[in-house]
Amino acid sequence: MALLQERDGKRLHVKSKLMGESLVGRSFLDSLVVAPQKRLFPDVNVVKIGGQSICDRGAKALPPIIDEIIANKEKHKILITAGGGTRSRHIYSIGLELGMPTGVIAKFGSSVSEQNALLVSTLLASWGGIKIGHDDVTKLSIYFAQGCLPVMHGMPPYDYFALPVPRTRIPVHRTDVGTLILADLIGARSCIFVKDEKGLYSDDPKKKTDAVFIPEISVDDLLARELDDLIVERPCLEILKNSEVIEKIQIVNGMEQGNITRALDGEAVGTVIYR
Ligand code: ADP
Ligand code: MG
Repeated sequence: MALLQERDGKRLHVKSKLMGESLVGRSFLDSLVVAPQKRLFPDVNVVKIGGQSICDRGAKALPPIIDEIIANKEKHKILITAGGGTRSRHIYSIGLELGMPTGVIAKFGSSVSEQNALLVSTLLASWGGIKIGHDDVTKLSIYFAQGCLPVMHGMPPYDYFALPVPRTRIPVHRTDVGTLILADLIGARSCIFVKDEKGLYSDDPKKKTDAVFIPEISVDDLLARELDDLIVERPCLEILKNSEVIEKIQIVNGMEQGNITRALDGEAVGTVIYR
């Protein structure tokens, strides 16, 4: 390890490409060459079970989804995440009325998505379902080798340090974002969002009956359309656009049996948003 001292003798550096840089210099960052991102678990499929869209429907939605995941377990490695949903929205709205900052609202969201992760992992428990924390992500190979179905809460661990959001104070990085960042982190084979609509439409199909279904769209085209509402959290689009390892995300209707299997098998069911 080469140690270098600045000419005025003030700073000591360990020789590296980043030595002496502020790490915010634009021209420096533009010229920096780094190794391509390693895909840590390229055979793992990340599947998010929606909070509001699926978990909150309880017995009306979850059992067939649980069955489908179990049926796919031997063929596909599946890392499940859970959303928050209606209970998150309830505590968000109470917190916002009472002037809570974004970080506290985010912390509320984490605990609700953790409840849903416990719910899903318990339903899967007899088939290897195991609730895991964010720190357990490097143990995925061990879980899969033991036949486990790991379930993680979808909320990213920003918690009190969630990016403050002007005016609404609703954290923009919620469980869709956490799921996609997780998929990027592990260089996943796929990132599938299980929700309650066929996929992405030109507007919310629950509110606009003339909304048009979009089976496939590039992230650039979708950003350019500036849709008023989306089926995934908005920052997912930038995260996908900037990903080195995730080429597409897929949104499928979990209320229709077979869609999760089709997506895991690589079929273009639902909506595919590609980089
Ligand atoms: P989750 O519980 O999985 O996070 P959400 O309820 O937050 O799901 O988001 C899914 C919902 O988003 C859909 O049920 C739909 O009503 C709504 N939505 C809003 N905009 C769109 C759109 N452009 N296309 C499809 N669904 C949309
Ligand atoms: Mg949501």
